[in-house]
Amino acid sequence: MKARYLFRLDDICPTMDWARFNAVADIFMRFEVQPLLGVIPDNKDASLKRDPADPRFWDKMRHFHSARGWTISQHGYQHQYVTRDAGILGINKNSEFAGLPRDIQFEKIAKGKTILTKEDLATDIFMPPSHSFDQNTIDALMDSEFRFVTDGYSILPYERKGIKFIPCQISRLVPIPIGLVTFCLHTNTIEADFPEKLNHFLTNNRNRTINFTEAAEVRASASQVLIEGAVLSVRRAAHSVRARRRAV
Ligand SMILES: [Zn+2]
Repeated sequence: MKARYLFRLDDICPTMDWARFNAVADIFMRFEVQPLLGVIPDNKDASLKRDPADPRFWDKMRHFHSARGWTISQHGYQHQYVTRDAGILGINKNSEFAGLPRDIQFEKIAKGKTILTKEDLATDIFMPPSHSFDQNTIDALMDSEFRFVTDGYSILPYERKGIKFIPCQISRLVPIPIGLVTFCLHTNTIEADFPEKLNHFLTNNRNRTINFTEAAEVRASASQVLIEGAVLSVRRAAHSVRARRRAV
């Protein structure tokens, strides 16, 4: 299988930078690409307050979902980092969830889910803020009837304990040749020339770009399973070398 590309847009909330978001959204609409939206149910993160809150926020989200076919995911609950725990992936040392007891995590996830459900945007896809989650998060997601997490460094989707992980590897628009590649875009902080780069990328790669539902169906061929296994063992070896270096 040749590479397939999925786009996800993080930090979607009423106070996001609307000019930047609209510039990117316009391109997706022009190419009829359906990205995954990471909607924060009740944003309290001051760094994401870039414009006055748009009173039509939920209407707009419903429009993208029902008229455009864009997929909604729940991006945490309030996007407030309360621990310094990098979680299973170990990317960023801050988290809204990792390091907290399971019942507290469940409560936050459930409150977020209630808000999205009330807004007619119920979803079973979770996008962990700061890429940080731990086993308690996964267990709490199971308890809350989530089925998917958009995260993880694999080449293809994989399943752990009833949750399917759709990997999310990169934010730069590099046409990686194999696997299912999710591009993670933070529209609040894109450079002025990003829309032009996105336009160029989609001109060349629209035929490989799919939506979340299609991404969740991507299956590994036998050779891809072998490649994936080789990549994982190289990564594990590198990790243990780094750990030994730290130990001396
Ligand atoms: Zn975020």
